[in-house]
Amino acid sequence: MIRYLYLMLLLLGGLATGQIYDPEPLDPDPERMARRWVPFRVLDAQKMRTTQPGKPRKPAEALESRQPRADGTVPRRYTRVAVLGYHNFSKDAPVSEMMMRTADFREQMEYIRKEGLTVISMQEFLEWRFGARDLPAKCVLITLDDGWRSVYTEAYPILKEYKYPFTIFLYTDFMSGRGDSMSPTMIREMMKHGATVGSHSVHHYYPSTWEKCADKGELEYTKMIDVELGESRRRLLKAFGPVNTYCYPGGYVTQPMLDRIPSYGYAAAFTVVPGKVTCEENPWMIHRYMVFGNDPSIFKNAMDFRVAEVGKVVSTGSTPGTLPGKTPPPPFPVSPQPGSTVPIEVPEITADLSGVPGINLGSVNMKVSGFGRVPAKMDKATRIISWTPPCRIYMPNISVHLTWTSSDGTSHKAEWSFQVDQGVPVQQ
Ligand SMILES: [Zn+2]
Repeated sequence: MIRYLYLMLLLLGGLATGQIYDPEPLDPDPERMARRWVPFRVLDAQKMRTTQPGKPRKPAEALESRQPRADGTVPRRYTRVAVLGYHNFSKDAPVSEMMMRTADFREQMEYIRKEGLTVISMQEFLEWRFGARDLPAKCVLITLDDGWRSVYTEAYPILKEYKYPFTIFLYTDFMSGRGDSMSPTMIREMMKHGATVGSHSVHHYYPSTWEKCADKGELEYTKMIDVELGESRRRLLKAFGPVNTYCYPGGYVTQPMLDRIPSYGYAAAFTVVPGKVTCEENPWMIHRYMVFGNDPSIFKNAMDFRVAEVGKVVSTGSTPGTLPGKTPPPPFPVSPQPGSTVPIEVPEITADLSGVPGINLGSVNMKVSGFGRVPAKMDKATRIISWTPPCRIYMPNISVHLTWTSSDGTSHKAEWSFQVDQGVPVQQ
């Protein structure tokens, strides 16, 4: 696994950190925190809706067009973002998960340009996620982890040439400019040309270090989280200004981290779990494709936006429309995404029915393969139906079936399926 490669980083670098400084008091409410840094009015998903919950929508409002507007944007729910994660670069060193050839990186950046995909900045990404902005349907967010010097010498000139904004996730023990690390001067120069700084902890601890600390008890573990997640942000804030995002080193994230992260002043945090990001994404577990230098299929998957295509409601009434063996994906946001592979034990299954006209909320049933009809919860305010399996799903293919009736008495169904990767080890 990629995280084991980080051990060597612990041997490198060291930074004089000086005084602790944080002008912002902690706030446990993530939405409120998010509102504080967005420079203008932020509306949450509920407030963005055009009608009040419970009132039937006019069909024209409910079925917003997903055709791009004159400025290229689409309604928020139709945007998909592929977040790309890179590490180290070299013109000629052997490729590996963490080491990418500079020429390959250029080819990927060129592919994004040729395909007409929109590379967005972290600020744009966060504004979209929190309801303050619309984006084109297919967007790319570029992130580079750790702070390798080669980001400055190899990747940055290409990113600058293409005028792509990007985010560097730095861990504060590795930004002295010594060894293979970038210096604060290099980082500040890149910030003038599209770079945003995010935190990647203080020490970039190896999971075994976290586990050893957990053995010492909750107090010690909490202290370590406060340093790695909280103190790292304070140091970066002092050195570079606003820091709104965190990236879990090696993708290692535990429930106590999730419990505490909203209090440190971040708006969002990134994982290493691949998948397209929707506007309903959990802001503390944002999907990201780690683009390995030795596996071109990852970039290819990341650039495949076909799962974002929206199908038509399949009617179970007399209306024809169901093609045998080829069911279109639901015409509303669902998770896990149709056709995606989720490398987690117990995926939450959700469907956002807020855009479905005339739906009788009490009539919605969810069936999940292997579980039959499940006691899914319908949030009447957001109209999101959700269910989390009570145990690990041992089947690789999971189908979800939703049925409901409309106020005019017609019945409908929608279905999708996704895969559960059984091979991904789960951290204890
Ligand atoms: Zn890292």
